[in-house]
Amino acid sequence: MRGKYQRQLVGVLGDPVDDNPTVVMEQAAFDSEQIPMDYLTIQVKCGDLEAAMKGLRAMNFTGINITMPHKGEVLQYLDEISESAQIMGAVNTIYWKDGKLVGENTDGKGFLKSLKDGNVVMEGKNVVILGAGGAARAIAVELAGAGIRNIMVINKNSDHAQLLVDIINKKTPAAGSFMPWEGCVRIPKDTDILVNATPIGFLDDEKPDIQYKELPKNLVVCDVIPNKLKTSFLQEAEKYKLKTFNGMEMLINQGALAYELWTGRKAPVEVMKQAMRKEYRES
Ligand code: NDP
Repeated sequence: MRGKYQRQLVGVLGDPVDDNPTVVMEQAAFDSEQIPMDYLTIQVKCGDLEAAMKGLRAMNFTGINITMPHKGEVLQYLDEISESAQIMGAVNTIYWKDGKLVGENTDGKGFLKSLKDGNVVMEGKNVVILGAGGAARAIAVELAGAGIRNIMVINKNSDHAQLLVDIINKKTPAAGSFMPWEGCVRIPKDTDILVNATPIGFLDDEKPDIQYKELPKNLVVCDVIPNKLKTSFLQEAEKYKLKTFNGMEMLINQGALAYELWTGRKAPVEVMKQAMRKEYRES
């Protein structure tokens, strides 16, 4: 039982972390539901994660988000890890269950929820993912679990791509393949869903170097960039009348899942959406 002044603590650990906007939507959600919980944005440098995780246990945090560069390293400091987070080798949300500190990865689940809410059929479909980093990995594992048949990774660094293709082929029911990203790349004609999982468009108005004019007619186009409703990539896709999904929705969905793991309650998703939209309109 907590007294009048004690607050429950959650937050995010990472470095750099000062521009991480998760506090905006999580705090708005806690406040709107009158939950006495504070979301802290905490810089933890490389080499300090073990101490930070001990501190988290000692201070009885309710949970925490983990961001770069700690998503992989944090696995060794947990009592349990969800199956999909184990496959990805990355955790972004930590919570308590039956006295154990459990690691989950909500990134790909948040992406998947956007597609499901948009009634996108996944069974037997072909996906192309641009990029092979943490976001690509989380999305690939969840899509494979949702019935996607083939996942092609298009990436510049072939070693990074091969690591992801190996995970898809060895640890998921989907078939993975790799296409090198050389110059302006052509997306295969039988692609159903295209995902930009690179940071292109985050800090500027750049878009991935692909042949937009030749994109398949019924392609679903998705972006992971969390700080814009319409990136240049999605704007270009919409010129060709393609259905699009943005990264802000993915961010809100993954944050809603974290909220539910920490509070045991359904997240006020509309409140979280409004908070994020307001934040990015005004910044
Ligand atoms: P990583 O650094 O792990 O991976 C980045 C990937 O993008 C690498 O494969 C890299 O290629 C590729 N890449 C980077 N720049 C370029 C470029 N100019 N041209 C082609 N490929 C490029 O990053 P993350 O996967 O963690 O994050 C990627 C993006 O996803 C970020 O913008 C992040 O904000 C966003 N994100 C959004 C979330 C959401 O909820 N909306 C959740 C998580 C992440 P290479 O291997 O060749 O180096």
